[in-house]
Amino acid sequence: ATPTAVMVGSGIGARLGVLFRNGEALERVAKVDMVALDKTGTITEGHPDVERIVPHGTVPEARVLGMAAALERSSSHPLARAILRAAEAAEPMEIEDVYMEEGQGMVGFLDGETVVLGNGKLLAAYGVSVPEALATPLEAEAQAGRTVVWLAQHDTVLGALVIADRIRADARTTIAALAARGIRTVMLTGDRRATAERVAHEVGIADVRAELSPHDKAAFIASAEAKGRSVAMVGDGINDAPALARASVGMAVASGSDVATETAEVTLMRSEVGAVLQALAVGQKTIGKVR
Ligand code: ADP
Ligand code: MG
Repeated sequence: ATPTAVMVGSGIGARLGVLFRNGEALERVAKVDMVALDKTGTITEGHPDVERIVPHGTVPEARVLGMAAALERSSSHPLARAILRAAEAAEPMEIEDVYMEEGQGMVGFLDGETVVLGNGKLLAAYGVSVPEALATPLEAEAQAGRTVVWLAQHDTVLGALVIADRIRADARTTIAALAARGIRTVMLTGDRRATAERVAHEVGIADVRAELSPHDKAAFIASAEAKGRSVAMVGDGINDAPALARASVGMAVASGSDVATETAEVTLMRSEVGAVLQALAVGQKTIGKVR
């Protein structure tokens, strides 16, 4: 693109709340033929709420919430914020050596035992299996699009938290508009398949890749690009920073983490997924004009 085209494109973008890192970003955007979207915080609003606390056996509900909150204190994940909000009135607990397993959950130590909070993969990695009596009734929650996180101490599951996030109001129309322009869409998520499929179904995405680690998300994009696709990855930077960096165009939703905006080619200042359409339109118009 000529310097003038870049200036014009950047100016139009800025007015729409779409910030391009540089002229090359505009050119890359013009070539995009596939849009990959993260689920939590991108297709959904990223302001989830704890809907239910489901203790297992005789564990008090307050203990499940208190432990979960103690593990989430150092996390900036949307799920962590939901749990901390729900636990505002709970008695504070001390869990030692808390760390994050990216895209899986949180780990710490209590009374000399490991405690974990997160998805099924995380529990499996720590040798914990979720009892049928707890898992089966919660299947319906996942199928309704809600996220279920498990809490365990040593080898015992203490309970589950059911967390719900709203789908962004413009997600469905955005996916349809992308399809109308001949652009493929795919949802990439670290959440379980049942939850992912429900959310994808609601917004009209047919291609769903679930239970992915942050590295898996990047690998999916790498393989699509190796097949000749030009991929824009839209994410909030929480557990999708490698994918944002790997994609031909990383598009960071601004409400997300600073990590995202630092590496992204495009920053979407408005917290709407529809801004993706505007970004693509600006790229195509600007580059189209000079050809
Ligand atoms: P997504 O790809 O949908 O944005 P993530 O990759 O951030 O989701 O997380 C994948 C899954 O890992 C979540 O659905 C949740 O089960 C678990 N997880 C990740 N981070 C946390 C956390 N801080 N606390 C509890 N669970 C977590
Ligand atoms: Mg995410």
